[in-house]
Amino acid sequence: MQSQILVINCGSSSLKFSVINPADKSVMLEGIAEQLQSPQGSITLKYQQTKQSLPLKSPYDHQAALDSIVKFLTEQSLMALIQAIGHRVVHGGEKFNQPTLLDTQVIDNIKTLSPLAPLHNPANVIGIEACLKAFPDLPQVAVFDTAFHQTLPQHAYLYGIPLELYQEHSIRKYGFHGTSHYYVVNKAAEYLNKPINQCNFISAHLGNGCSVTAVKQGQSVDTSLGMTPLEGLIMGTRSGDIDAGIIFDLAERLGYQLEEIKTLLNKQSGLLGLSGLSNDCRELEQAANEGNARASLALDIFAYKAAKTIASFAVCFNQLDGIIFTGGIGENSSLIREKITQHLALLHININSDTNNNLERGTICNIASAASIPCLIIPTNEELVIANQTNQLLSEEKRNV
Ligand code: ADP
Repeated sequence: MQSQILVINCGSSSLKFSVINPADKSVMLEGIAEQLQSPQGSITLKYQQTKQSLPLKSPYDHQAALDSIVKFLTEQSLMALIQAIGHRVVHGGEKFNQPTLLDTQVIDNIKTLSPLAPLHNPANVIGIEACLKAFPDLPQVAVFDTAFHQTLPQHAYLYGIPLELYQEHSIRKYGFHGTSHYYVVNKAAEYLNKPINQCNFISAHLGNGCSVTAVKQGQSVDTSLGMTPLEGLIMGTRSGDIDAGIIFDLAERLGYQLEEIKTLLNKQSGLLGLSGLSNDCRELEQAANEGNARASLALDIFAYKAAKTIASFAVCFNQLDGIIFTGGIGENSSLIREKITQHLALLHININSDTNNNLERGTICNIASAASIPCLIIPTNEELVIANQTNQLLSEEKRNV
């Protein structure tokens, strides 16, 4: 069996893991530890076509989860196959524009970027530090969500606020979901049989978090998420763009504290806040079908905002090779795809309803009608990108020794 990469994606209360062979793209095992820090915490994984759960010991934290995963890998004689660990790290600021070998200095740098992604970077660091303890002899690599967007031109990444705030305090757009957009645009070029450096795409990653990215000849030139993952599209629980004046009104007229506003915009808004029901697109579609007007309204607003952002990125190109849908909603919701594309006729985007409604799950498909530019559904695979980039970096390091 060839060498494998362990890919780790750590959230504040979850740890997703997979063991991937970058040579043939096969996934040997994958799993998730959820509800960490609580006695309800659990670890489930799929290995050799079988789903199983692993024990999680007190204090039910990331370290306990990794200890249990290491025990499983040892019992199955898989430890020796793992050559390296690739970590998803959400914010790399301007410092990291490519995958980076982790050492104490890099970890310190990731920590100093935490104010830019307070919900994500600290959790990523917990995962990295737990892995360093669990696998002290293996090389570990950070792959940054922001790295792909480091090609944004200044006119796209600067906000209309005093320039000193960027120069002295790094306040600018960074963008996220970079590994996903990178993966799907390259797949799209392959599918259309064109070199990526001759293609222009608008890629829509629609999941719990949502973003649209304009990719010109393989490089990100604009993206909807901002300095933090709060800007842009309406998301599961995040508001996306709002008039910044609303924040002052909430504070001055309605007496909200800053922390409450943060929670409101990050955790109580988006599809959840609009529908009053759920952040989950599937549940809202069902409720809308059953006549729930608020669920229906939430889906309409979600789709309109996504379409408006896609259309706005037309300014980045003089020719467009296709739009791409990915992420849980983009890949699976024919209703949302239909609602979004209904607003895009001016961009010559029209879909074939039959194709849109009868996709084979997990496959790449073009749902465009004959007269339209391609409208591609591409299942994303961020874990594979992390495994590949980790493997590539280590091969380069070896060559340079
Ligand atoms: P994350 O951003 O957490 O990785 P995902 O990319 O898995 O999330 O996307 C989750 C979203 O995808 C949820 O809103 C879920 O309802 C939606 N989704 C998944 N399958 C379907 C489906 N068949 N129809 C509509 N929405 C779906």
